[in-house]
Amino acid sequence: MSEQSDWRELQVALRTASDIAFDQEMPTGEQADVLVDALRRAQAAALALSAGPGATGCRVHPQGAVDPLHGDKEDPLPPGWGKCLLCNDRRRRAATNRRGVR
Ligand SMILES: [Zn+2]
Repeated sequence: MSEQSDWRELQVALRTASDIAFDQEMPTGEQADVLVDALRRAQAAALALSAGPGATGCRVHPQGAVDPLHGDKEDPLPPGWGKCLLCNDRRRRAATNRRGVR
């Protein structure tokens, strides 16, 4: 994720929210759920823009944990992996699933 894509996400989510909020009829049920979801996405994107990358350098999990293996010379992370523990765990799980090992 880049600042550019956070910004786009913010715009798309706010447009969705205002389409619903300024509709002729008051949003109820499913429409209200979509509105809540759009506002959540807008808030997350706005927070990412204001916070900037945290210690992880990850835009999805800026406040997440740093992978303890990052910078480890004995057991280095594969090339292209970042410092974010959450993203690296996801990559590890994906690699495990590809090999068919549990
Ligand atoms: Zn991450």
